[in-house]
Formats: sequence, structure tokens, C-alpha cells
Amino acid sequence: MACERTLSILKPDATARNITGKINAKFEEAGLRIVAQRRTRVTREEAEQFYAIHKERPFFADLCSFMSSGPVVAQVLEGEGAIKKHRDIMGATNPKEAAPGTIRAEFSLSIDENTVHGSDSAETAAEEIRFFFRETEIVG
Ligand code: ATP
Ligand code: MG
Repeated sequence: MACERTLSILKPDATARNITGKINAKFEEAGLRIVAQRRTRVTREEAEQFYAIHKERPFFADLCSFMSSGPVVAQVLEGEGAIKKHRDIMGATNPKEAAPGTIRAEFSLSIDENTVHGSDSAETAAEEIRFFFRETEIVG
């Protein structure tokens, strides 16, 4: 399997509860390397742009409010099959359906406050990485 990069975001519920290190430990234990990382705050407009694919969905407004409600940690993860591996470690979108041991099963509060975002394809990964990072900020 090819070495890939994916965009991960530790969402405001993760920074609020000071559990970003516990989450990063899970990524590193699974062999993913954090090759870029920045704590930041996204504006509502940036959240709307980032999640534009969901703009017709009923949860869009709540999602954008939540993502701009507090600090996030944006990061680029690198490793063999990183996109799928990261999503496997995240678990299902709804924490009630997430497999035991996944981040969402262990830490998430609800389908809204579900702790982590991960790119879902090679195309979205490239686009989402560009949204947060310049190439020179990614050090593999
Ligand atoms: P993310 O894109 O954040 O990594 P995901 O790919 O598992 O999560 P998506 O379908 O892309 O899930 O939805 C984006 C986000 O919108 C979810 O993480 C969740 O917070 C929210 N969301 C998705 N479906 C629902 C829903 N049915 N009700 C409320 N919120 C939802
Ligand atoms: Mg998604």
C-alpha cells in the first residue's frame, strides 16, 4: 500500500477537554506520523467553506457553528494507507455506532461533538491539506 497523507482535525470538543495528546497517541501507536500540526481557530466562513460539500444537509448550520466555537488542531498525518487507517482509528461518525477502541467510541460526546475529522479520499485529502498548510510547513 502506498504512503499517503491525510488531513486530520481535532475538533473543539477535543481541545476543550484537553485530550489532544491522548488522541495523538492513538495515531502514533497505529504508525501514523504527525508531519504538520497547528492549533488554530476557524471562522464560521472558513468552516462553511471547508464543509461546503454538506451545505444542503440539515446539520450544516450546527456543524459550522460547532467547528468555529473553539480552538481546533489541524494536522497532516502520513503513513501507509493513511487515509483509511485514520478513518478506521476515528470510528463511525455517530459515536453510538463506533467500534470499541476507536477515538469516537472512547471520547466523543455526540454525533455533533465527535472529536475528530478525517479526509475521506485522496482527492479530498489533497484539497483539505492545502486548506490549512503550505507545502513547506509539512515536514515528512
Ligand atoms: P468528518 O467529515 O467530520 O470527518 P465524517 O466523514 O465521519 O466526519 P460526514 O458525513 O463527512 O462524517 O459529516 C461531517 C460531520 O457532520 C460529522 O463529523 C458530524 O459531526 C456531522 N454530521 C454528519 N451526519 C450528521 C447527522 N446525521 N446529524 C448531525 N450531525 C451530523
Ligand atoms: Mg467527512
